[in-house]
Amino acid sequence: MPFNIKCKLVKKEFLKDDICRMIISAPEIAKVAKPGQFLEIRVVDNIQPLLRRPISIYNADENSGEVEFIFQIKGEGTELLSKRREGELLDIMGPLGYGTFKFEDYKNIAIIGGGIGIFPLHELSKRAKEAGINSKIYIGFRNKDLVILEDEFKKVCNDLILATDDGSYAKNGFAINFLKEDVKQNKPDCIYACGPLPMLKAVQAFAKEENIPCQISLEERMACGIGVCLGCAVKYVGKDNVNYKHVCKNGPVFNANDVEI
Ligand SMILES: Cc1cc2nc3c(=O)[nH]c(=O)nc-3n(C[C@H](O)[C@H](O)[C@H](O)COP(=O)(O)OP(=O)(O)OC[C@H]3O[C@@H](n4cnc5c(N)ncnc54)[C@H](O)[C@@H]3O)c2cc1C
Repeated sequence: MPFNIKCKLVKKEFLKDDICRMIISAPEIAKVAKPGQFLEIRVVDNIQPLLRRPISIYNADENSGEVEFIFQIKGEGTELLSKRREGELLDIMGPLGYGTFKFEDYKNIAIIGGGIGIFPLHELSKRAKEAGINSKIYIGFRNKDLVILEDEFKKVCNDLILATDDGSYAKNGFAINFLKEDVKQNKPDCIYACGPLPMLKAVQAFAKEENIPCQISLEERMACGIGVCLGCAVKYVGKDNVNYKHVCKNGPVFNANDVEI
């Protein structure tokens, strides 16, 4: 059950000029948050912009009651949010999303993400580590200037492969190429992915080809965040007898074979 609460902005920092990390005090959310879930944030207390903005939970700490999220400044909403000051109260709805990352009885997993799509994968990897699941993470960025959070991701997995498309840092090429190489020796029980659409499509196709279960998180544009406005529909081809599902309510995480992206 999501909460709608005013949460104190405890800390704000910029990881890059356009990438902002916020830590809020939200014990209710930290206690129940599941990997893959997100928050709907009112960026300002004024009427405009009216719609909340969806941002994934990067880290939820039940002990401190703090929840972290990281976002890229894209347009008006995220720009305004980035200007909020430490100590202010943010109007937050969450945790949202019934479709979350699930571990089933997996022992050995691969996690792959690209660019700003890596944010929800941190909480996932952290939980996997806590559950004693062996995880290997593959993250890709376009170039060295865009690389973020390398050390933080290293801490929450058994092995991290970082790649840049142009080879300006770490491994050269798309992250998925390294996953493909590894799968030849060691097939993971499941692949988890979040990132740009072309990467998600490639991961979806590869997992299907190799017959590996795969869970993907979709970051479709959305408005209400609770399944009322039906703005974030995605074509559904799974077992349920419906043609569309909604990223906000049924997702954001889906079994890769169940959705057409
Ligand atoms: C479930 C979910 C989780 C998300 N988690 C994160 C996160 O952890 N960190 C993060 O940086 N972003 C995340 N996003 C994307 C984020 O919500 C949007 O970037 C944000 O709402 C843009 O708002 P804006 O007012 O700044 O930009 P707008 O003025 O609304 O849009 C500016 C530009 O961004 C594009 N855009 C807007 N929304 C999206 C979207 N969902 N996907 C791709 N492009 C978009 C628009 O087409 C436009 O070109 C998430 C989205 C969803 C649905």
